[in-house]
Amino acid sequence: MTVLVTGGAGFLGSHLCARLLADGGDVVSVDNYFTSSRRNLSHILDNPRFEAMRHDVCFPLYVEVDRIYNLACPASPIHYQHDPVQTTKTSVHGAINMLGLAKRVHARILQASTSEVYGDPLVHPQDESYWGHVNPIGPRACYDEGKRCAETLFFDYHRQHRLEIKVARIFNTYGPRMHPNDGRVVSNFIVQALQQAPLTIFGDGMQTRSFCYVDDMVGALVAFMDSNAALTGPMNFGNADETTMLDLAERVLRLTGSRSKLVFAPLPVDDPKQRCPDIALAKRHLDWAPQVGLDDGLKATIAYFRHELDR
Ligand code: NAD
Ligand code: UDP
Ligand code: UDP
Repeated sequence: MTVLVTGGAGFLGSHLCARLLADGGDVVSVDNYFTSSRRNLSHILDNPRFEAMRHDVCFPLYVEVDRIYNLACPASPIHYQHDPVQTTKTSVHGAINMLGLAKRVHARILQASTSEVYGDPLVHPQDESYWGHVNPIGPRACYDEGKRCAETLFFDYHRQHRLEIKVARIFNTYGPRMHPNDGRVVSNFIVQALQQAPLTIFGDGMQTRSFCYVDDMVGALVAFMDSNAALTGPMNFGNADETTMLDLAERVLRLTGSRSKLVFAPLPVDDPKQRCPDIALAKRHLDWAPQVGLDDGLKATIAYFRHELDR
């Protein structure tokens, strides 16, 4: 089986490529290295079953593969708002090209969608039947609406061309190989704590997220891809343990032993106040649930950043 991973050099993609190689597949990573580098792949570049291609998914791609995981897209607010037009193009043109490819070679294709399709949700926790509460013209819209349009394209290719699709709605995921400067809260707090710099809490810190460790997420994506063809999703994947940003900051201080102070900064525009996945569907159909608790996942992530900052 030859598996294509777009965004393969990114945080999630690099873990997914390693897992697919360990499972015995041939793996092709396609990435334009916009938010990543080949260094994320250094542990697998020598594997003869692995190939790293530099390519932008906004342009057509002709390769012969059996399965496609479509992860290519900047994922952190700082990165996806840097060039918002390009973000929408990556989600939409990228989806069209990868769906066209899947159609031609009869490949099964999985889309890395996101909890952001729910926007700033009015329903809590979010289950897959909720249509969301998204500002279509705000600064997050390039990402949210791009991902929503990609979902539309996946379901239309499924209905119109009988493509085998899997739409995974990924909630906040963290772990080693996160980009240290992409502004996401887990990497920010850990790097700040290790550098004895103040931890930046946006707003009053009472907004919530639910953080899933990367190994759990990769396991979910692989199980979903391998599942019965009738199971298209959309399906939520994430950890249902909800936590406030203040609680996260206190955990990071405790686990790093840092004496950093907390500083408060304004809440970004359209920042969701509460987010927690309902993962009943994944539990029922895939027998999947996250195994790694927040403290254990943070310890592994802290060890990674400690090593990176010492380099
Ligand atoms: P990431 O930024 O580390 O990885 C994204 C990868 O896509 C990078 O390697 C980047 O260079 C590549 N890329 C961007 N535009 C491209 C283009 N036009 N052509 C080819 N490659 C391109 O982010 P991540 O956290 O690993 O996210 C991976 C996927 O999972 C994204 O689609 C993201 O939307 C989704 N997701 C992630 C999270 C999370 O918490 N990490 C949550 C929800 C959804
Ligand atoms: N495409 C691709 N690789 C392929 C097949 C198609 O990148 O192996 C692209 C192609 O450039 C097209 C898009 O996917 O723009 C959608 O393909 P589809 O066949 O669905 O539509 P059409 O070619 O009819 O526009
Ligand atoms: N956040 C924070 N301090 C930071 C970075 C982020 O308090 O240094 C907050 C942010 O406002 C949001 C939450 O942490 O409420 C999660 O932010 P992140 O960018 O990691 O993910 P997303 O907002 O996309 O869920």
